[in-house]
Amino acid sequence: MKLIKKYLLPLFMFLIFESAAIALWITKDNIFYLFNFSYIGVSVSVGLLLIIEKKGYARRAVQLLVGIYMLIYLGLIRGENMQIEGFWYYLFTGVFEAATIHYAVAKIFGPLIFGRGWCGYACWTAMILDFLPYKVPQGPRKKLGWIRYITFALSFAFVSLLFLSQVGGIERIMFWAFIIGNIIYYAVGISMAFIFKDNRAFCKYFCPVAVFLKPMSFFSLFRVKCKKDRCVNCGKCKSVCPMDVDVTDNSRKRKNGTECILCLECVKNCPKNAL
Ligand code: SF4
Ligand code: SF4
Ligand code: SF4
Repeated sequence: MKLIKKYLLPLFMFLIFESAAIALWITKDNIFYLFNFSYIGVSVSVGLLLIIEKKGYARRAVQLLVGIYMLIYLGLIRGENMQIEGFWYYLFTGVFEAATIHYAVAKIFGPLIFGRGWCGYACWTAMILDFLPYKVPQGPRKKLGWIRYITFALSFAFVSLLFLSQVGGIERIMFWAFIIGNIIYYAVGISMAFIFKDNRAFCKYFCPVAVFLKPMSFFSLFRVKCKKDRCVNCGKCKSVCPMDVDVTDNSRKRKNGTECILCLECVKNCPKNAL
């Protein structure tokens, strides 16, 4: 019984993904969905098992397993544009496939359950940014979050223009948009990391996907919470947080609460096991 309780979360996550895999396989009559969501579900569940077993590399392992799969296999080999432009594209064509399903699960409705787990454990942009040297921001947060709304609007405008101008070969354009878009994201993300001395500066200020992620993760079921009776206000948790979250405040309105990527660095570093 104790063993089941210990491994309940990985089991729960595996069942959620497996349910989605089977439901989509049957409703869409496409075995790809069974493979796709089973692979992601197994990766996430194995990552959670490694976290429970206190393996320091757990988060990075999942991030690489899922990130490489999505970037190389889905994006480059299968030619699915899984970026936000791909989401607009499939939405405009009225097709509930690839990017629309991906966004619905990982970035729109999923965050109601697992917050910004996508950003901590699966995103292929952050997978590279997390290799950079500034794992903890070296300065205070800047008031530049408005940039993400501009990039969000630009991505929408780009796909709208493609449809309005009725250009041919739009599928091919979306494939190249995925490649060029990723090159731009990596170039901007790496530059921002060095300019602001903060690996996650791109996530905080530039990434258009955060426009979906932030409001939905406000209601997240899974959150890191502080046991106030144990906390000695040492400030260690805030000093190791890559996203500047005030995790000692248990309210939903905690400072930068919708930025939490569930990396658990605060939990690992709390000297009082208060998180
Ligand atoms: S904010 Fe954007 S770039 Fe950063 S991890 Fe999330 S989805 Fe990826
Ligand atoms: S690290 Fe732990 S004890 Fe220190 S302020 Fe954070 S929650 Fe409290
Ligand atoms: S360190 Fe804690 S509060 Fe900060 S992003 Fe990671 S899990 Fe969230």
